[in-house]
Amino acid sequence: MAALVIAEHDNNSLKASSMNTVTAALECAGEVHVLVAGHQCGAAAAAAAAIAGVSGVLVADAPQFADGLAENVAAQVLALAGGYTHILAPASAYGKNIAPRVAATLDVAQISEISRVVTPDTFERPIYAGNAIATVRSADAVKVITVRTTAFTAAAGGEGHVATIDPVPAVAGSASSVFVSRELAASDRPELTAAEVIVAGGRGIGSGDNFKMLEPLADQLGAAIGASRAAVDAGYAPNDWQIGQTGKIVAPRLYIAVGISGAIQHLAGMKDSKVIVAINKDREAPIFAVADYGIVGDLFEVVPELARELARAR
Ligand SMILES: Cc1cc2nc3c(=O)[nH]c(=O)nc-3n(C[C@H](O)[C@H](O)[C@H](O)COP(=O)(O)OP(=O)(O)OC[C@H]3O[C@@H](n4cnc5c(N)ncnc54)[C@H](O)[C@@H]3O)c2cc1C
Repeated sequence: MAALVIAEHDNNSLKASSMNTVTAALECAGEVHVLVAGHQCGAAAAAAAAIAGVSGVLVADAPQFADGLAENVAAQVLALAGGYTHILAPASAYGKNIAPRVAATLDVAQISEISRVVTPDTFERPIYAGNAIATVRSADAVKVITVRTTAFTAAAGGEGHVATIDPVPAVAGSASSVFVSRELAASDRPELTAAEVIVAGGRGIGSGDNFKMLEPLADQLGAAIGASRAAVDAGYAPNDWQIGQTGKIVAPRLYIAVGISGAIQHLAGMKDSKVIVAINKDREAPIFAVADYGIVGDLFEVVPELARELARAR
């Protein structure tokens, strides 16, 4: 049995999600290959070849893959699918755009957002916003899987390990879509889904201007800043900061929830965090039920004080 991992990358480096997906693939099959479909993506391919456990890297290097268009990458995956029992992609926007196209064309059921590999044909996946775990068995000859990356540790770079890198013939680009432009939010902070520490704000913060008060605390901790959906919907924070069922799934070492009540849809995105700290003036707020440490108090006093104390302790 061999598994193919669809690498998420920017042509120069691999996204952390690719490493977590490799770990899941290694639990599915004895041999794991990684597909790097990109343009001038030699550096990303070399990074994939250095991942422990990966035995081969397939590189489709052509202009039609430069921007990761799902139609083109899915066609490339389908051209290679014949040799694999498992095809895995991270359950990120990138992977979720590609995997269903592959599954539909192969006429197999996609297995979405697995959180555990029980056996090579049986998987666990969260349902009902993470309130229940379904165990699903697939009888399909090829299992097309997206991986909840926070549920799998990242495969390490192998010490001195280098897998073979083989170019594969690039399929033609699809005429059905063209890349027009990309708007990237530039930030010096870590990316939310890869951050070790996250400071997240909710509706309790009260305004977009008030949200800036999270920055000194985040600066002290080298943290990413996230938000609840209520804060995003109110325009206090940008859309790509949203954490939860309809936002990003995160599992940092430390999650500080500020003025967030702890609705189940929010918990669905962060309850696997290793240590959760909640700051809320309402001692009955449900967030305290999942918090390891809780501070009942006014966030406008607690947050600046916490930032000051951290600065003093340095
Ligand atoms: C289908 C669906 C999907 C959803 N997806 C998501 C999702 O992905 N992510 C998400 O977050 N939500 C999601 N929601 C919304 C979710 O149900 C909640 O409405 C939302 O999480 C509430 O956000 P909040 O905790 O910031 O706001 P609130 O529930 O209004 O809580 C604000 C908190 O701030 C506290 N507070 C106020 N002032 C202060 C102060 N001065 N000091 C300290 N504490 C204070 C209050 O005590 C309160 O607990 C979804 C809902 C649905 C129906």
